[in-house]
Amino acid sequence: MIFKMSLYCLLNKDNFKIECDKYYNPLLLIDVKPYQMKCTLTNSFWFFIENPRHNIDLVSGFFEFYFKNSPDDYTLGQVISKSMVLYNKDRINYHDFMPCILFTNGFFLQEILIYLPFHTFTFFRELKYTFLPIEYCECGVCFEETQCINVHDNQYHHCFCLQCILQLHQVCPICRLSIL
Ligand SMILES: [Zn+2]
Ligand SMILES: [Zn+2]
Repeated sequence: MIFKMSLYCLLNKDNFKIECDKYYNPLLLIDVKPYQMKCTLTNSFWFFIENPRHNIDLVSGFFEFYFKNSPDDYTLGQVISKSMVLYNKDRINYHDFMPCILFTNGFFLQEILIYLPFHTFTFFRELKYTFLPIEYCECGVCFEETQCINVHDNQYHHCFCLQCILQLHQVCPICRLSIL
């Protein structure tokens, strides 16, 4: 099971919604080539991503940039700015400004590179759970009908959603046995 995330962006007047896999890496590199995002000489570009990783709630960035003259096709460029990252650690919210780079080729956006702050170990747990099978059922903690993971490999069938599992401290809230 691969968890997905969405990047919403606005390039001048054009909206895009880009679906990509979640990354478990301090650098987030998003390939936007298939979306044919075409710049003009003067540009404003705004984007946000919700929950790219467990302890990161939101990444948002705003760029204003221009080309001195029309770039040839295949002329590579980059625009450097900062994105704001909202994240949480031990249930406390923080924000930080991290470098963010747009790569261009001619008038087209190619990739967005975002630096993410500080890992928590929870993020390694989130990665581990991506290797377990997902079932659609009611989470035993929040009762939401959603994608859940069975936390045991015994005969018990105790399923929780990812957000709830990551709040658990290695013990199943139903049977008190340790969880996967
Ligand atoms: Zn839940
Ligand atoms: Zn259990």
